Amino acid sequence: MNLVIFGPPGAGKGTQSKFIADKFNMFQLSTGEFLRKEIKDGTLIGKKISSVINTGALVSDKIVSDLIEKVISNSKYQNKIIFDGYPRNLIQAKNLDVLLNKYNQQIDVVLKLSVSLKIIKKRISERKTLEKRPDDNEDIAIKRYETYEKSTEPVIEYYKNLNLLKVIDGEKSIDQINKEISDIISAI
Ligand code: AMP
Repeated sequence: MNLVIFGPPGAGKGTQSKFIADKFNMFQLSTGEFLRKEIKDGTLIGKKISSVINTGALVSDKIVSDLIEKVISNSKYQNKIIFDGYPRNLIQAKNLDVLLNKYNQQIDVVLKLSVSLKIIKKRISERKTLEKRPDDNEDIAIKRYETYEKSTEPVIEYYKNLNLLKVIDGEKSIDQINKEISDIISAI
């Protein structure tokens, strides 16, 4: 089973993805984490993308596509991938279909964590003190939320039309959300 998890910045995608990965023996493919690692390691890609990430915009589709193909093509992760942070726009959604098809895979379920901007702002300010991410200040968080609404919400509609979408109230407690997600995955 492969799944996609959506949610605005601060919705708890990362936390929930780690939980699903542990519980269901899956691999969390967090494009944001991969990209932050490129920056930290000072690679050529890292140098290209750091200014983009720090404004809250999206990095180029090609860079992220190359990165996810490395995971999708690896038989170790076949049908075990949690796409956390990909796709972020319609071009990426279609690209993901092509890539999965190329390696004889598919998306089985799409989870969306719904959270209001008010709660997002609160969580981002809490996370900043914990994780010290340079793109976690209120202005950039709002920009990332706007990017999410503009570019990523249409992708959710795309999956809804394919009958793959499950919407979860992301304002509930972490444990309650864990449970809802477990129930959904166990029923597949
Ligand atoms: P995240 O950790 O998922 O919030 O991602 C952090 C940042 O990485 C985003 O604000 C984007 O700049 C970049 N990023 C992550 N995933 C993608 C993607 N699929 N396409 C383009 N940019 C991405």
